[in-house]
This record gives sequence, structure tokens and C-alpha cells, in this order.
Amino acid sequence: MRPEILFSLYSPITTLKGVGPRVAPLLERVAGPIVRDVLWLRPHSVIRRTTGTLAEAIDGQVMTFDVVINDFQRPRTNAQPWRVRVADETGFLTLAFFGGFGGQLEQRHPVGARRLVSGRVEETKFGRQMVHPDYIIDPAKAEDIPEIEPIYPATEGLPPRRVRGFALEALAQAPDLPEWQDPAFVSRERFPTWREALSRMHHPESDADLSPLSVHRRRLAYDEVLAHQLAMAQRKAARRREPAPTIRPGALAESVRADLPFALTGAQERALADVRADFQAGERMSRLIQGDVGSGKTVVAMLAMADVAEAGGQSALMAPTEILARQHFETLSAPLAAHGIGVVLLTGRDKGAARAEKLRALASGAAQVAVGTHALFQDEVAFHRLQLVVIDEQHRFGVAERQRLQAKGEAVHLAAMSATPIPRTLELTMYGDLDVSRIDEKPPGRTPVATRAVPMPRLDEIVGRLRDAVTGGAQAFWICPLVSESEVSDLAAAEMRAIALREVLGDKVGLVHGQLSGAEKDAVMADFADGRISVLVATTVVEVGVNVPNATIMVIEQAERFGLAQLHQLRGRVGRGRRESACVLLYDPPLSETAQQRLDILRRTDDGFVIAEKDLELRGGGDALGLRQSGLPDYVFADPFVHRDLIATAGDDARLIVNRDPGMTSERGKALRILSELFDWKAGLALRDAG
Ligand code: ADP
Ligand code: MG
Repeated sequence: MRPEILFSLYSPITTLKGVGPRVAPLLERVAGPIVRDVLWLRPHSVIRRTTGTLAEAIDGQVMTFDVVINDFQRPRTNAQPWRVRVADETGFLTLAFFGGFGGQLEQRHPVGARRLVSGRVEETKFGRQMVHPDYIIDPAKAEDIPEIEPIYPATEGLPPRRVRGFALEALAQAPDLPEWQDPAFVSRERFPTWREALSRMHHPESDADLSPLSVHRRRLAYDEVLAHQLAMAQRKAARRREPAPTIRPGALAESVRADLPFALTGAQERALADVRADFQAGERMSRLIQGDVGSGKTVVAMLAMADVAEAGGQSALMAPTEILARQHFETLSAPLAAHGIGVVLLTGRDKGAARAEKLRALASGAAQVAVGTHALFQDEVAFHRLQLVVIDEQHRFGVAERQRLQAKGEAVHLAAMSATPIPRTLELTMYGDLDVSRIDEKPPGRTPVATRAVPMPRLDEIVGRLRDAVTGGAQAFWICPLVSESEVSDLAAAEMRAIALREVLGDKVGLVHGQLSGAEKDAVMADFADGRISVLVATTVVEVGVNVPNATIMVIEQAERFGLAQLHQLRGRVGRGRRESACVLLYDPPLSETAQQRLDILRRTDDGFVIAEKDLELRGGGDALGLRQSGLPDYVFADPFVHRDLIATAGDDARLIVNRDPGMTSERGKALRILSELFDWKAGLALRDAG
């Protein structure tokens, strides 16, 4: 139930004065459907009007002059403006009006009248003029001209000044709300109240007041991130209240581990310890395991699965593509089967008797581990005792899909794996409702991929080297970006590249792109994995995680168009084996300075976490890493980068609130409920509910 005190803010925008059927759709486009959305509009700049004599007029400045109307000049054609000559003791100015309403002008501002005119001064070949002044008013009403005027986002048919009027109207409707922030924090940060903060936002006194660092913006940002963190903390708490099976670390996993030809890295050990602690907590696990491609996430999952099997339960590992599922199956099945743990692979390809047999093994519990694609959550798939779901490349799945799989058991533990490292500063924002383990250490013995940025005019040289390498038995990826609006022309570009490369390298050049069917893609990928193809030209469909150990060269065309994280992911396709690998970042010169710096970062490090952090720094907040699609919330006031200190505090604050006052019944709790309703994160969160 929405608190009554918020009713006015949740009213449709048509309840604002002056918002009728014509204006409503325009205002909705700028703000949103309800009064709250108009209240939350932010001015993006301020105009400061200076007052002066005409002798002091400065080209380009917005100024106010006290003048007398001298004379009207009718336009000779419709294309010409009405011109009104005005003057003070120091000089002249021409006001220009297009659109033929000069008759009215003459009536309202007769020759000889004294007026204040305000607008942007322009020096033109017709002399000094002001086109469509913002104000022409009687000097008695001088206070109608604001000295400082905030400029609001606008749209065709709804100019900024009208939007401002509606925003002020919404502000007038905004109630005083009870303080939901901790009083000590409010006074330490010198925060104004919620309403004062909004009022200041709509009445900025300078550019500094528009800054996200201004104290009122920080207040509003803190409200917003606290509401968000609170929603996530509440969901996490709710999940924890569901009892889940306790799974103890067992001898079985230890014997599987003993067979591995390597020792776990420290980071893998920590991630495994995190999972095992969750397993023993008696609560449902919801853990995200983040780590670069090749950092060894799968091994950690495998040992967790062995623990589950020893405790008599089953696990399911779901991957977004068939190739990946197959590779996981190949990684897991032998080491687990060696210790009596049965693994089945279930994909869309399974048909008939073979499929029925696999389904029986899962339903009876004869097999303890299922590896597969979307095929895993289909209705016919039943488990005997599903206790752990592992999702690889978690962002590639929808909530519903994950939930359908988890629903095949009771209080199923969730481990989500992601090869997109999130900067620590964003972790709480994106995954505040999950526990996170970071595998930030690579297994030893990898040779870093030698990375070079090369301008496109040197293409021939690169192709020549590629020919030599391929003759020597090497394999290469050649990535063409998806850049234009039209997939067709991007595809054409990739096809052209494949043709051009075939002219030099012969028929060992394959092409894979998004228009191919799953089976066709798999076939090309299989040809590449088996060495029948030496160079694989691809649009960005190269599946994350695909392992072709013999591939040692990665060429990326128009690298400057990719996000850093994406370049890093692509580069991660090579350098899997012990052989030296190379990555060539082809770019169209000239590079902007930022683009240059970004490519430089890639040359200097191959740590995904460092790269993500640097990318964020270079591009600032906003949609730095294209993260919005992967769950970065669309904040109104908060900037995940600029306000990262606030997010950290809000995370702590939210946890404390949920622990101390889970029912939100204290005074502050009640006020916080209003805050939650105000921001209404629940709707948004459901979209990426991980459990
Ligand atoms: P991810 O899933 O994070 O991409 P994988 O678990 O598939 O990584 O591991 C990548 C490769 O590294 C695999 O061949 C795996 O056997 C190997 N590997 C994993 N952990 C280690 C380790 N600690 N030492 C050496 N090799 C490892
Ligand atoms: Mg992997």
C-alpha cells in the first residue's frame, strides 16, 4: 500500500496546472507519467542575466537593458523579421521578431514606451541585435526577469521555460516528508532536508549548484542509492530466511582436487572457501563468482558440485550456448566420473531414446551433475534432488530462465559466474543483493598476450604477417565490429574481409556471424576448433568463453569502436595455451586522446579488474562500460562513479537497517518505507532478480 502522503507525487502529470491533452504527451516524453517524474527533472545549465547599458553590451551574452521603444520596421517579405529599434542614453539595439506578429507588438509596446528587454545579444552585419528577446516587460515588473534561470530538458513543442514552470509547479505540490536519514549522518554531511534539496535543485544560484558534488545533489543521490541498497538488502535478507540444505565440504571433492594437474590459485581457494561457508550456513546461497576468462571459475564450481554430490544432492550447470556447454562437459565429466560422479550433457540436440535415458538418469538421481544449455530448464527435465545451480555467463540469461531451473529443486543454492569483471566501485551498485567472490589472480604459466595498436593503413603488413603465422600452423580470430545501424552492412563488411583474406590465405578462412543458425555457427566453430579453418572472421558473435587453445592471434578491426571490457574479453580468446600469443588492435586514425589512452591500458595490463576500473575512470560515470544492459541501474540523481562514496555508505546503512529493524516499524523505519515507495525500486529489481 502506497502511503497517502505520496499520493500527490504519484498523480498523473495532468494534475499539474496547464498540463492538458496537448501538453501531457510532450511532458511525459521529457519527464514521465507522474508528478514525481516532473519534480525530478534536473536543470542542465543556468543562464545568468547581466544588466547593463547598451554601451556595455557584449556579443553572445544574455543581458537585460532598460530602453525606450524608438521605431518599428515592417518586414518587406514574410521571410524577414519585424524589427524594433530601441535605445538608451548610450546606444541602440534592434529587436528582431520572425513570424509576422508585429501588429500586436506595436500595440503592446508603443513607440515612446519604456521597457526592460532581456535576451542574447548578437553583433551582426545589421548591427547589434536581439532575436526574439526572452522578456519585454514594463520596468515596474522587473522582478519577473530572473537573474539566474535554470534551463530544463525540453522537446519540440515544449520549450525549456515551460518545462521549468511545470517543475516548479510539481515542487509546490511536493509534501514535506519525514526525515528517513540518520540524523547524525545528515548533520555530518550538512544535508538539507529532502524537500529543501529539491527546492535548491530547481532554484540553482550558480553552475556550482548543478554539480553532482553540490550538497543538495549529494543528499538526493544518497536518498536514491539508499532506497536501492535497501531494496537489495531486503531481498537478500528474505532469501536468507529460507532454510537451505547444509552441505559439508567432503572427502570426495578433495580427491577430485588431488587429481587435478595443478594447484588452485589463492583466489580460487578463497572463492571455494566462500562457497563452502555459504553451503554450511543453512541459508540459500546467492553468490556471484567474477573472474576473467581463464581465471579458473569452472574448477571452483566443479569442486562445489563434488561437495553437493557427496551430500547426496545434484547440481546443474547452465551455459548460454551449446559450444560452451559441450566444453564444460568435457572439462567436468572425466574428473568427476573418476570418482563416481555421473555427469550428463543436455542440449537442444538431444533427441529420442538417448535423451530419454539422460532424463531418467537425472530424475532417478543416477547422475549427479547436469551440464547443458536452455534445454536444462524445460518442463520435461526433472531432478531427484537438485541443490546447486551454476549459471555460466549469468548476464546472458533472463531471470525467468534462472528461476525455472532453480524451481526444479527446493531452496536451491545459486552460483552465478561472470567473466565481465565489474570495477569494485560498481559492485555494490550492480550486485548489492548477491555475495561476490572475485577471482583476481590468473593460474600461473600464462604468457601475456602481446598487444599492439596498429593504424589501418598498415593493414597489408598485418595480413602479410598473418600469412606467415598461418603457414607456420597458427590460428587466428579476425573480429569485425558491429557498428552501423544496419546489421546487413556490417555483415557485408565481414564478408568483404573474408573474401579479401581468402585472396591472400586461400580457403582456410571461415566466417561466422549472427545471421547463421545455431547449428551453422557450431559447425564453423567446430571446423576452427579442429583446425580445418586457420582464420576465423567473425562479427562479435565469438562466444564468450569458447576455448580454442591453438588460436594465438586476435585481430580486431576498428578497435576504437569497442568498449575496453569487450576488447579485453575478445583478447581473452587467445593466450590460452603456452604458446606466445598476439593481439592486434586495428584502428582508423586519427585516434582521439581518450581512445589512445584506452588502447594503451590494454597494452599495459591484462587484469580485467584493473581494465574495468581504468575504463570507468577515463569515461567517468554514465554508461561507461555499456553496463546498463548488464544491470547498472538508471539512477536519476546518483552517478555510480561520482557518488561511489555514498554508495558504499548506503550499502552499510542498508544492511544495518535490515538487521536492526527488519519489519521497518521504528520511527526511522516508517520514514524509510516512504523513501522506498518514492523510488520504487522493486519493479526495477524484479527484472534482474538472481534468486
Ligand atoms: P574460466 O571458467 O574462469 O574461464 P576455467 O575454469 O575454464 O576458467 O579454466 C581455464 C583453464 O585453466 C582450464 O584449462 C583449467 O583447467 C585451467 N586452470 C584452472 N585453474 C588452474 C590453476 N589453478 N592452475 C593451472 N591451470 C588452471
Ligand atoms: Mg568459463
